[in-house]
Amino acid sequence: IARTAEELVGDLNPQQGEAVQYQGPALLIGAGAGSGKTRVLTRRIAWILSQFGAWPSQILAITFTNKAAAEMRERLATLIGPVAQRMWVSTFHSACVRILRRDGQSIGLKSGFSIYDSADSERLIKIIATEFNLDVKRYTPRSILGKISDLKNNLTGWQEYLAVHAPDFTPGQRGYQFGHAGDLEAIHAVLYAEYEHRLGLANAVDFDDLIGRTVELLRKDPQVADYYHHRFRYILVDEYQDTNHAQYVLVRELAGVDARESADATPGGNGRFAGKTGPAWITVVGDSDQSIYAFRGADIRNIQDFEQDFPNAKTIMLEQNYRSTQTILDAANAVITNNEGRKPKKLWTAMGKGEPIVGYAADNAQQEAVWVAGEIARLHAEEGIAYSDMAIMYRANAQSRSLEEALINGGEPYQLVGGTKFYERREVKDALAYLQALVNPDDDVNLRRILNVPKRGLGDRAEAILLAYAREHGASFFYALMHVDEIQDMPTRTANQLRAFRDLMASLSQFTRAHDAKPSEVVAEVLDKSGLRADLEKSVDPQDASRLENLSQLQSTAAEFEQKTPDATLAGFLETTALVADSDQLPDEGEDSGKVTLMTLHTAKGLEYPVVFLTGMEQGTFPHSRAMEDISELSEERRLAYVGITRAKRRLYVTRAAVRSQWGQASDMMPSQFLDEIPDELIDWKRREAGVERMRGAWGRDEFDDDFGGWDDDFSSGATFGGSGSSYGSSYGSSYGSGSRYGSSYGSGSSSYGSGSRYG
Ligand code: ATP
Ligand code: MG
Repeated sequence: IARTAEELVGDLNPQQGEAVQYQGPALLIGAGAGSGKTRVLTRRIAWILSQFGAWPSQILAITFTNKAAAEMRERLATLIGPVAQRMWVSTFHSACVRILRRDGQSIGLKSGFSIYDSADSERLIKIIATEFNLDVKRYTPRSILGKISDLKNNLTGWQEYLAVHAPDFTPGQRGYQFGHAGDLEAIHAVLYAEYEHRLGLANAVDFDDLIGRTVELLRKDPQVADYYHHRFRYILVDEYQDTNHAQYVLVRELAGVDARESADATPGGNGRFAGKTGPAWITVVGDSDQSIYAFRGADIRNIQDFEQDFPNAKTIMLEQNYRSTQTILDAANAVITNNEGRKPKKLWTAMGKGEPIVGYAADNAQQEAVWVAGEIARLHAEEGIAYSDMAIMYRANAQSRSLEEALINGGEPYQLVGGTKFYERREVKDALAYLQALVNPDDDVNLRRILNVPKRGLGDRAEAILLAYAREHGASFFYALMHVDEIQDMPTRTANQLRAFRDLMASLSQFTRAHDAKPSEVVAEVLDKSGLRADLEKSVDPQDASRLENLSQLQSTAAEFEQKTPDATLAGFLETTALVADSDQLPDEGEDSGKVTLMTLHTAKGLEYPVVFLTGMEQGTFPHSRAMEDISELSEERRLAYVGITRAKRRLYVTRAAVRSQWGQASDMMPSQFLDEIPDELIDWKRREAGVERMRGAWGRDEFDDDFGGWDDDFSSGATFGGSGSSYGSSYGSSYGSGSRYGSSYGSGSSSYGSGSRYG
């Protein structure tokens, strides 16, 4: 590691330099957007390695996305060389998977455990709820899972919750008599307990478990805890404002802050940590004004209380912004000041005022999109701005459609980040379910998924027969399948088909194990023998052709994984597929994709673009309708606006539509209050007022008569919308009223985190 101190801090400002070199057990780098937090964190790692003499293996660096991890690792490689490749730079989730793979046995996880994404988890909840005779229309799996997720994020165990709300229930028990209809706590408690029970039987964990079970492991097994306390001497966390309680506790446990030995805490560096067992040094980096994940459990207090939480903590504030023009910063500051209870921050830039913000009010969403597309074309043609230097951001994924249409019509190349992800596509998930069942035969959910995929005449009856046998023997579905010959009284047809399926799974399983087969070989074998490929090949549906391509892509991905990973295993491959997020679809930094990027504001966190379009700046869209009634949610939306504005380096556009149709009905939209919060003189309105006449006229009954039926959905939400009339409010209500619809378009689109409950 050949780096001089000068090379590492020479081009930083004094506060940044101090943060890089700080020696002490707990450091918070708190600062506004674009002040170089992520850059300082990366430099600090390089500093610790080259100046403190730490080993790469002693460092654990946590980023918010896989993509950010990959980027940080790359930066480090240029700073310190190839050792960076071996370091633990990853998300919380990936780090926990590694820990659980290594040491999970001591909390009952067998190697090869499955990681359920939210779709898998919902499937399991649905199976359980149906068995317990609950109406899944009323108690949707998504909302139940949201509640379970909240509990897990707060490290509330099922035992604890069950003891309070349904103490007479024992997991594994068949059925339960709920006291009175709508006893939501009892329902949640029973389903939570039973869900955990089934996960255990299936040797599976869900996303939240990755954190929670790692905490459990560290708390229950002192030897394991000891191992990590010795191993990780420096723990660094980016985007700390978006950690939840479980992650906060995880950091403490990993660092050994609460361990008894912490009494002999020793200042570290230059090998001084060798053999010592004092807690690891913690560095966290974040901006409380950018906390935008409360809906999935992020707790802003983690950053606010850092100094109280960690003994001898030091805070360093960074004040110079290197990203944006003064105009953009002024707008961001003006908006965020409206949040109450925050510490005012100074943020300045040496870049000068720059261009004014450009505003545009369109008559409707289509027109807004056409104008944005036109402006992008103009910037590209007249000012030579690369498409990849421009990004369009919006509050909810559903808003992308009209934008995409306009870009397609205008011929501007674009890429959409978010939406249905590759690994969530049905055919890909089917293939993965085979792989998962092979790696983890206890995984009932995945095995049941593929019982009749492709169709082989094994319906609900066959499933029920196997299930009954499994129950009777207290064994897994896989076990039942393997013992199908012992099951009596089956129709011959069913028996034959089940035997054929058993032979298939047995031979695939043998293939996987016997040859020590590479992941790509197993994928090929599965696609071949299962009939998944043949089924699509013989179809004439053009959609099936693209499904086929996806399967071939899956095989290529497995092959790529092998090339990148020494000792690649099938389980390892499955992990990479389980942990992808929206942001992973972004092109690598510095690489010119030649395309405009479209994404939600949530996904844009941590990123920067020379030109940013913030679209859909309307009350009810952004801030979204529910936030307008709830001060803490409104504050969160405002932080999201702050994140959005501060993504822009040189040019910022804010646009709105006077009419937007949501769930098939047109609604009149008032300008976003965030627009009002930006000082007037900063915005150059290309068109200030839109469709005012149209807006009044739009409420004539004849035009919207058909829609009246749906309006009383959630009428009450109209009340808070002072003065604009009840019809106004009611249209918001019905647009966003239903939790599940809302949930599907809400937030970052990482459905893998399935939250939703608060909106459900
Ligand atoms: P966010 O809050 O959005 O995560 P951040 O505080 O992490 O932002 P960075 O992304 O690290 O900020 O930095 C913002 C931009 O400023 C980057 O392009 C970075 O390279 C640049 N930058 C940071 N510090 C300096 C510096 N001392 N000199 C030059 N450029 C800098
Ligand atoms: Mg950052």
